[in-house]
Amino acid sequence: MSFLPFTRPSIDEATIQGVVEVLRSGWITSGPKVKEFEAALSEYFGGRPVRAFSSGTATLEVALQLCGIGPGDEVITTPMSWVATANVILHAGARPVFVDIDPVTRNIDLDLIEAAITPATRAIIPVDLAGLPVDRDRLYAIALKHKLRVIEDAAQSMGASWHGQRIGSFGDLISFSFHANKNMTTSEGGCLVLNDDSQIALAEKLRLQGVLRAPDGTMDVDVAGGKANLTDIAARIGLGQLPHIDAFTERRRELARHYFSCFDRSLGCQMPPENFTDSNWHMFQILLPLDQLNISRGEFIEQMRQREIGVGVHYPAIHLFTLYRGLGFREGDFPHAEKIGQETVTLPLFPDMSLQDVERVCVAIKEIIKSAHQ
Ligand SMILES: *Cc1c(COP(=O)(O)O)cnc(C)c1O
Repeated sequence: MSFLPFTRPSIDEATIQGVVEVLRSGWITSGPKVKEFEAALSEYFGGRPVRAFSSGTATLEVALQLCGIGPGDEVITTPMSWVATANVILHAGARPVFVDIDPVTRNIDLDLIEAAITPATRAIIPVDLAGLPVDRDRLYAIALKHKLRVIEDAAQSMGASWHGQRIGSFGDLISFSFHANKNMTTSEGGCLVLNDDSQIALAEKLRLQGVLRAPDGTMDVDVAGGKANLTDIAARIGLGQLPHIDAFTERRRELARHYFSCFDRSLGCQMPPENFTDSNWHMFQILLPLDQLNISRGEFIEQMRQREIGVGVHYPAIHLFTLYRGLGFREGDFPHAEKIGQETVTLPLFPDMSLQDVERVCVAIKEIIKSAHQ
């Protein structure tokens, strides 16, 4: 039996051939393929302007700069995310203000946001954990009432939707990641969906050293931009992925449904919310009933590995990392995020796995948990 990883990208032969052609073309960094990729993304998101970046992290950083967020500002976000979500706030010189999550959706608890708003609050960065969208109606109602910007960290929700509208096709600023583990990839990369054409020029300058090129071949620099451009090699991968995104989502939903039908609910694991309309099933995460077991999560993961099955942990609560403890955060600050951070495991889920793989995972979990029950 071959090893089943928790995720693996699906790259077709035409895409591989397309990358070879870019490599042979003589132009391998940002060029025509990036422009083509941005146009295709813009069409996918209903015509809104889109610019591509070298990573989801770089995309978030540019979004914060576009909002003018810096020292003295506060940004509200979730402690249950990949650490990039909070690190970019620190990088901007601003203060991350965490709000605990809803234990069912595992996303930021919208009921708790208003209590965290202060005169220094400038923006909210919500995260669609595992591809399950945050309630956009309530989110934008809060933002509008308090005049806050919203930078949607939609790194995990490419292909997901809210009430039939694609994530990215509406809202303030929407940031995606095309890291290899995301639902569509460029190996590394990301994109930002902008509000209107007026911010395109600044986004482009922030992406590449602040350089503004004039038609006569001269250039000027009026802002200290970074180095966050996507390469044509990466963009060509993205062009081969984008046409498949809706099929990827459908396949992920089918596999997730199979998990729900095969999983033994009597084992005491908490299942993810059964959402088959909005979520893109970026991840399938269960919570282990550790208080009923005589093994740790690490031992569970090791026993799955012995059965040739990869299991991930997404994520330890951000506020308990050393860097964030140094800012004053402590155990007990966000109990729901802490509990999920300790109990969560990510099971294999990616378009190229089979229904039999799902069954194999369910059998392995049952064996391990049955023999670990105290
Ligand atoms: C992956 C991810 C990021 C960062 O994206 P990169 O492309 O790895 O820089 C940010 N936020 C969330 C929620 C992510 O899952």
